[in-house]
Amino acid sequence: MDTNSSVSGVIFDIQRFSIHDGPGIRTTVFLKGCSLHCFWCHNPEGIRVKPEIRYDPARCINCGACVAVCTNGAHAIDAQGRHTYDRTKCLSCGLCVEECFTEALVLTGKTQTAEQVVAEVLRDRAFYETSGGGMTLSGGDPALQPAFSAEILARCKAEGLHTAIETAGNYPWANLAGLLPHIDLVMMDIKQMDAQRHRAATGVSNVRVLATAERLAVETDKPLLFRVPVVPGVNDADADIAAIAAHVRRLSQARRTAGRRAPITLELLAFHRLASQKYQSLGLDYRAANLEPPTEQRMRELRAIVADYLATD
Ligand code: SF4
Ligand code: SF4
Repeated sequence: MDTNSSVSGVIFDIQRFSIHDGPGIRTTVFLKGCSLHCFWCHNPEGIRVKPEIRYDPARCINCGACVAVCTNGAHAIDAQGRHTYDRTKCLSCGLCVEECFTEALVLTGKTQTAEQVVAEVLRDRAFYETSGGGMTLSGGDPALQPAFSAEILARCKAEGLHTAIETAGNYPWANLAGLLPHIDLVMMDIKQMDAQRHRAATGVSNVRVLATAERLAVETDKPLLFRVPVVPGVNDADADIAAIAAHVRRLSQARRTAGRRAPITLELLAFHRLASQKYQSLGLDYRAANLEPPTEQRMRELRAIVADYLATD
């Protein structure tokens, strides 16, 4: 691997000791940029591609240090001595963040090389080896930064790590095809089988998502874990989950017909509102504020539907 020409990309977090993003103990690398705009998104800082400022007024002590360094006039102290922030004037240079010692201002997203990312990932190699873990690319959608993702994955494979990706599947197949040789496990969302309802919930049709799922099932032999974030009104009716489970069963059958054997599974994840504060700090409208997360009982009922479908696979 040529370490002098490592590809750069934009990430917003590297989370060590993850236990929900694939097998074992993992490091999850979150890349910025997503082609869907799910109104309940649990990682809204991953939606936009560019780095951006998160501002938490509750932490601001109106010291004015940010005003002095921002040449774009995004910060001001008003006549009452209160700090104001105009996001529309911000170029995300990050200078004000360095001056804000209360961390009312935080830069979300930074450009790194694949080599730098993998150096961080390798810090926990011992935990991957003892737990059967590895490295997961998440986001955002890692397939939207294909060259960067490919190099991270290839470097991790060269180090003998298990690799996984979490993706929304809404892109030309070539975005993912270049990553697949370096991936051990693909985790992909299916949110709604009805194209119009999918568009209403995510901003895009599910046509490309389902096409990606189909090609993954039939043209590859990668283990596939389809995931459904169960969101009230979006896909929490019995019929919604049954339609997704039936589709996954059909994909599983199509894979076997194609002579492939790697497992295809389906997992339901409950919507939650833990991301609420992130929306505020990013200046985004949180349209899921009034949604009640599904109860444990409801999740059990929906998981039973999935189990019924996959048992008859
Ligand atoms: S530097 Fe931070 S604490 Fe000071 S006024 Fe700016 S945002 Fe508020
Ligand atoms: S990130 Fe740069 S442009 Fe944006 S508010 Fe801070 S200093 Fe101004």
